[in-house]
Amino acid sequence: MSIPADTPADSPVDGLAQNLARVEERIHSACLRAGRSRDSLRLMAVSKHQPPELLKEAVRLGLRLFGESRVQETMARHEVFPASAEVHLIGHLQRNKARDAARLYQAVQSLDAVRTVEALSARLHEEGRQISAFLEVNTSGEEAKAGVRSYDELLQVALAVEASSSLTLQGLMTIAPYTSREESLRRAFSRLRNDRDRLEGELGRSLPELSMGMSGDLEWAILEGSTIVRVGTALFGSRLP
Ligand SMILES: *Cc1c(COP(=O)(O)O)cnc(C)c1O
Repeated sequence: MSIPADTPADSPVDGLAQNLARVEERIHSACLRAGRSRDSLRLMAVSKHQPPELLKEAVRLGLRLFGESRVQETMARHEVFPASAEVHLIGHLQRNKARDAARLYQAVQSLDAVRTVEALSARLHEEGRQISAFLEVNTSGEEAKAGVRSYDELLQVALAVEASSSLTLQGLMTIAPYTSREESLRRAFSRLRNDRDRLEGELGRSLPELSMGMSGDLEWAILEGSTIVRVGTALFGSRLP
């Protein structure tokens, strides 16, 4: 029996179905442990820097929520995402990319500055579009990471989003510290949840989404209340730099 040369058994495309099954298993056992139902959270496939053929396979396997990190990268291949997919920007948004972002995404998860919120809002208004907004919080204290650093800063950015008729604030997003220590990870995730609860009280309405948990730490995030886990390498393998 011969194996066609263009479909090696260990190609990334074949691995994706297996990886997805493994990630779903991890999500299911974390949900069980947390006493949550699987449909209380969504799996986001972090497609940044992955080749378009892998993204097509992800769509074929039923994935419909994607996380992209660069506006230019999304622009170059946005046709691989079907109309039924939701694509979120999870990487830093530069103000000079606000117009393209306003056309490409159903949500921006990485908002952390009033000026960026205002630029995005103005471009959305011009495009006649309304999208979802998440605010990014730096829960790790790591200098290199984006996100607001204090609750006061969070409130200022939240009020800018609330003032926009083109953005609907859905919740918060964070990247946990780079560690495998349970205590540090859970502290970061519970801080995000506490910030969300406090902000809900202040704004007087509910903010349903907590976008937290990645390939290495999604179990802890689910235990702390995550509603979106953003998974890249555990699904697709390592990325091109
Ligand atoms: C790259 C990235 C992820 C995915 O990270 P993995 O460890 O590959 O799962 C999630 N969230 C953000 C904001 C990212 O930039």
